Amino acid sequence: MMKPLGIYIHIPFCVRKCLYCDFLSMPAPETVRARYMEALGEEMAAEAARYRAYRVGTVFVGGGTPSVLSAAQLAGIFSCLRAHYAVEADAEITIEMNPGTVTEEKLAVCREAGVNRISLGLQSVDNRELRRIGRAHTWEDFLEAYRMCAAAGFANLNVDLISALPGQTRESWRRTLQTTVSLRPIPAHISAYSLIIEEDTPFYALYGPDSGGSAAAGVCPLPDEDTDRDMYADTGRILAAAGYGRYEISNYALPGRACRHNCMYWERGDYAGFGLGAASMTDNRRWSNVRDMAAYLSLPADRKKAEMHSLSLSEQMEETMFLGLRMTRGVSRERFAHIFDRDMDTVYGPVLERYAAMGMLESYGGHVRLTDRGIDVSNRILADFLLT
Ligand code: SF4
Repeated sequence: MMKPLGIYIHIPFCVRKCLYCDFLSMPAPETVRARYMEALGEEMAAEAARYRAYRVGTVFVGGGTPSVLSAAQLAGIFSCLRAHYAVEADAEITIEMNPGTVTEEKLAVCREAGVNRISLGLQSVDNRELRRIGRAHTWEDFLEAYRMCAAAGFANLNVDLISALPGQTRESWRRTLQTTVSLRPIPAHISAYSLIIEEDTPFYALYGPDSGGSAAAGVCPLPDEDTDRDMYADTGRILAAAGYGRYEISNYALPGRACRHNCMYWERGDYAGFGLGAASMTDNRRWSNVRDMAAYLSLPADRKKAEMHSLSLSEQMEETMFLGLRMTRGVSRERFAHIFDRDMDTVYGPVLERYAAMGMLESYGGHVRLTDRGIDVSNRILADFLLT
């Protein structure tokens, strides 16, 4: 029997680098983009033999900003995909796009290629907030892109938002949420993350631990912790009132519109990643491609992998818990026992009991999940599921 597989295709190009971004992405001239697309196609073809026993249920073309590619380059990705991989007829096929890079021609190519889900980066409806975080687009650019996607027939649209931005108030965050749920057609899915100050970003120098505090640096301050928490609570309330269910810590969807590809990661399904720095995992072996562009372009198609790692049983159990508990449906005790041939309580009894007693974790219908209180401090709880 064919096994299920998710495919991730990384397009590491952006119009310019946002100030908070630590993703593997960069602006690049067309010559580099063209060479990259060639190398990517060769890698996908060379790796196909490894996945003969798989059928592809989800595809995610992410980045970066895949929509900086030309329509012909986008068409090339999908024809290569279909030439070498067994993509199911009802596969969820997502592409990430950013305002300012969407065209009718690109959307038509995507429709033709079977793309059925588009994820658009908005982050905020406030142009001052967008400017402060270095986004290359305005709210008006987003509106135009969103209307084009809808007009091209895409009904399954995700909008990415970020809270706790510099200078953002609770009121302006609420306005971002309210405006987003008032879009027509209503987005099927909303991802709402809280800004994280990552190392090696311009924001780290401004807001990181060595910045001396934003006031001293004379920059627009970040919301304080209490406001950040209030914003998170507002997110749940406003999106629930608009019909969105939270199915993961930061992800909300209309009924039946959860992202199947992301759920596959949280359930530890097998996936193949292609492109710069892309990670793959099958049969509990994980590997990732080189992260250096020159190396990626010059290495032979079947030798682009930098690291290979076989996951120990402890690592598999840890991942099952800390990825599974991100989802509001939690982790099935039966599934855990089936995979690992041991009871969840035998492995995690004390930590499950401790957090249950604190009202942060609960059992229901054979599952274990975080409560709303637990989700508020999920990072701390999930770290306690590490066994090593
Ligand atoms: S558009 Fe996305 S991937 Fe590109 S720089 Fe901005 S945050 Fe990073």
